[in-house]
Parts: sequence; structure tokens; C-alpha cells
Amino acid sequence: MRVMAQLGMVMNLDKCIGCHTCSVTCKQAWTNRSGVEYVWFNNVETRPGQGYPRRYSDQETWKGGWVRTARGRLRLRAGGRFKKLLSIFANPVLPNIRDYYEPWTYDYETLTDAPLGDDFPVAQPKSLISGQPMAVEWSANWDDDLGGAPEHGPRDPIVERIRTESEDKVRFEYERAFMFFLPRICEHCLNPSCVASCPSGAMYKRAEDGIVLVDQDQCRGWRMCVTGCPYKKVYFNHRTGKAEKCTFCYPRVEVGLPTVCSETCVGRLRYIGLFLYDADRVTEAASVENEHDLYPAQLELLLDPHDPQVIAAARRSGIAEDWISAAQHSPVYKLAKQYRVALPLHPEFRTMPMVWYIPPLSPVVDRLTETGHDGEDAGNLFGAIDALRIPIEYLAELFTAGDPEPVRTVLQKLAAMRSYMRDVTLERPRDESIATAVG
Ligand code: SF4
Ligand code: SF4
Repeated sequence: MRVMAQLGMVMNLDKCIGCHTCSVTCKQAWTNRSGVEYVWFNNVETRPGQGYPRRYSDQETWKGGWVRTARGRLRLRAGGRFKKLLSIFANPVLPNIRDYYEPWTYDYETLTDAPLGDDFPVAQPKSLISGQPMAVEWSANWDDDLGGAPEHGPRDPIVERIRTESEDKVRFEYERAFMFFLPRICEHCLNPSCVASCPSGAMYKRAEDGIVLVDQDQCRGWRMCVTGCPYKKVYFNHRTGKAEKCTFCYPRVEVGLPTVCSETCVGRLRYIGLFLYDADRVTEAASVENEHDLYPAQLELLLDPHDPQVIAAARRSGIAEDWISAAQHSPVYKLAKQYRVALPLHPEFRTMPMVWYIPPLSPVVDRLTETGHDGEDAGNLFGAIDALRIPIEYLAELFTAGDPEPVRTVLQKLAAMRSYMRDVTLERPRDESIATAVG
């Protein structure tokens, strides 16, 4: 067993209020420069919605991530070595500025200096890149206004797919509109397709903590990494001609500080910590046949840092004592592996992403309509998980390659915990059976 350490993050989606403070502080720290005006290493997308860049999760279009061949091997969706070479002459599939949305500012001078008239002065947006006036056709969180309504405006590929297959069309109409926020950074994957697709060897994964970085001196601007990343978390700097991406704030992490997005998060929803994992089994785990097995396979890779055999193997692999100790106290290990309440984003891309999400526990719709009371007050919310406002199918498409069971289990645990803690807070008799029922 070859043990390696990996920095990871868990985000509790119930606590995200969509304030975008994380995105703004990240931008101020990392991408407040010309050439990367359109870039958000951290973005917070509205769900349902298209995401940023729009429809990035649709790999039939963007060709990111890995696919499993008939022989059980992994192959880059964007192509093997031949295509990688070919890409040097013909650029791969890339989102354009409209997919990211062109950043704009307003012509404030015209707004404030406009002569008095009958019309209300309206500021004309102008491109931050070209400085020219522009017609804004879309931007990342315009989906906020739609609440997932399928008949209006730009569409969420997941809602489209579920609606085609589901008989219960009403669930995605206004009557049960739902919305939540999904903050995203680079996943610092265990099996990063960006690294594998780079023809120059510029993308690399740090051995000591698994942070994925771009060597700016090595990068030749081929942009295969932009195509290869299924999360579209590598960006092209059009001034320097090099790729750039989230660095997990390594200069801060190296001196014991949290990432900027974590430190400034208003909802306090981001947890950072170390995983220990079995590096010899990453490819095997990423190549399991059934996509529903990818989440369990990913969990299996994460080792118990208290296990004496793991500790011995970690020492043999050269991991320092304080890192082993950090892994033992890691909140991300507890949430993802021990309590199993955090799930990976799109495990079907087979990159083994290391940013995990505690899915949002929304109100129970049926109970709410029938009784006029919040279902949680009934004390048995976890029995009514299937009537939650956010459909389990939707969360499963995001976090478990469409398998509803792991999502249902997580939501039951969260509901049970919420119900139990409510009893504690209100000094009501505690129902110990709730904890037993969800393990
Ligand atoms: Fe690479 Fe990050 Fe994309 Fe994973 S999410 S493939 S580590 S850029
Ligand atoms: Fe959500 Fe925190 Fe970002 Fe605000 S700062 S949008 S609460 S992740």
C-alpha cells in the first residue's frame, strides 16, 4: 500500500446563502488582473441552473474527464495520445467567452452626468475586456430568477434529463420550484484528467498534499487541460497565453492558514482537512464498470488514519508525523468517510474529486401542503425524505451518478440529526430511536 496525503474540502450546502463573498475575495486574491477578467477560481452557481461556464457538466459537448473502455481501461474522453498530439495543431473543444459570460462594468459617467430629461437614465454595460458597449445576454446566476422552471430561459441539463424520463412533470414546474447554491472550486482530483491531458507536462499534482498546479514556465498554452477538466476549472489567461487554476491557496495553506474562500465564507460552511489514501488503487477505483459504484470506490480509497497498519504504511511512504496527526483530526475525513454525510460532485467523470458536499435538506413538500406545518415539527422528517422539495433524483445526478440510495441515506441522517438537536434545544424528551433508525 502506497499511502499519500490529500488536502480536501467539505461544503455544507444547507448553509450557503449565495452571497458570493467567497468568489469576490478569491478574485481579489488571485484573478484581479488583466487576462483573467472572466475567471472565477471559486464560483457559486445557482441550482437548478446551467453553471459556469454554462452547461459545463454536459461532457458529450465538452469532452472532459475519463471514459472506461470495453477492456476496463481508462481513456481521456478528449482522446488518447494521438489526439493529444493533434491538439497541438488543432485546438480541442473549448468554451468561449459567451459560455463563461463576458465580464462587464457600467458606464457610470453617463449615468451620473446625463442631462435632465423625461427618461430615467440607464447605465449601458460595457465590456471589461474590450471597453466597448455590449448587450448582456446571459451571466452565471441569472438562473436565480427561474427557480428551475423548465419552460423559461436557459435550461439546466439535469432538469432536462430528469424531466424527459420522469412522469411527474409537475415536480419541476413552479408549484414545487426549488433553488440552492453550489459553490465550486477545482476538485484537486486524485485522478486528474487535466494533468493527464497536458502535452507539455506543465500540470502536476503535488506529492505532499495533492494540490494540482500549473507550472507557468512549462505551460505552452495548448489548452488541452481546459478541455480535459470535466469541471471546467482550468482557465486560459489570454494575456500571458498560459493556463491558470485554483491553487487551493497553497501559499496560505503552507503557513497554516485556511484558503481565502474558507476564511471569508459567511455561512461558515467550508471544512478543510487531510485525507490519507491508497495511491496504488486510484486507477482501479476510477475504472469500476458501474457508475453507481464510483462513489463507494472513492470512499474505499480513503484510509482510516487511526488504523495502525495505515499509520505504519504512511510512515513507510514518508508521511510526516504531524501530517498523520492532522489526518486523524481531519473534519473532512469524519464528514466524508466516518459519518458518510458528504458526497463527491459528479463522480461519473472518474477523476476522483476531492471537494465533497453535504447535500441540502429542503422542506418536506407534501407534509407542508397537507398540514400547513413544517414537516420537521412532526419529529419524523426522516420518514418523509422522498417528499422533500428538492427531488432526490436531482441531487443524485449531481453527487452519486444518478444513484438515489446514498443521497437518501445522507438526507435521513441529516433529518434525524436536525430532529434530535431540535429536541435537545427545546429541552423536549429525546427520541433515541431516531439515531438508531439511521445508524
Ligand atoms: Fe484538474 Fe481540478 Fe479539473 Fe480535477 S477539477 S481535472 S484537478 S482542474
Ligand atoms: Fe456560500 Fe460561503 Fe460563498 Fe457566501 S461565502 S456564497 S455562504 S460559500
